[in-house]
Amino acid sequence: MICIRLAKVLESIEEAKYRYKRQDNIELIAVSKYSDTEAIYKAFTCGQIAFGENKVQDLIQKQQILHTHKISWHFIGTLQENKINALLQTKPILLHSLHSMKLAYALQKRLMRDKMKLRALLQVNSAYEQSKSGFSPESTIPAYLEIMQTCPNIELVGLMCMGAHSNDNMLIEKSFLQTQKLYEQLQPYNAKILSMGMSSDYEIAIACGSNCVRIGSSIFSH
Ligand SMILES: *Cc1c(COP(=O)(O)O)cnc(C)c1O
Repeated sequence: MICIRLAKVLESIEEAKYRYKRQDNIELIAVSKYSDTEAIYKAFTCGQIAFGENKVQDLIQKQQILHTHKISWHFIGTLQENKINALLQTKPILLHSLHSMKLAYALQKRLMRDKMKLRALLQVNSAYEQSKSGFSPESTIPAYLEIMQTCPNIELVGLMCMGAHSNDNMLIEKSFLQTQKLYEQLQPYNAKILSMGMSSDYEIAIACGSNCVRIGSSIFSH
């Protein structure tokens, strides 16, 4: 069942790519935060490699159980500073949610101490929503450049945002386009990944230039 759902999602990503004339590859992150390791394993056996978790403790547990499989783990949740050490132990392939300068400095300190590097995206709060963390659109580019200069152990590779929490597609599109504009401006600075789009809005995100969609419920729920 999971394999069928996964295939359907991949097919509709392809359709959206074609519809919006997108040439580049679009990566699918299967968001497994509400799923157990059995479901993750099923998706893995039908070809899905990249999975996303939003709680450090869950990531550690699932990674431990599935450690013999070559899964790429992405961290997509709001990271608290007291969880930094634990997260770094999991060696995530990408942190999607670097949301403040304070967190960047705290990460840099730990990374330097442990002689580690971390690939990360800046999270943009493009819809200016109180409930979401992230940099305001105005502060995103200065923050990106500041982190590049002052945090050599963090490798910034792009931006992430969540679409506006709304039924109004125009509003969602606006928040994605805003982030895409910032992403374009960051092209000279190693920005390669634009992580936008979840189950409810990934087609809009693809229309707006996303090359990385984070999809959970369309794959895993019944
Ligand atoms: C849960 C979550 C997703 C996936 O949401 P679905 O609606 O289940 O596809 C994507 N991104 C983030 C940051 C999430 O927390």
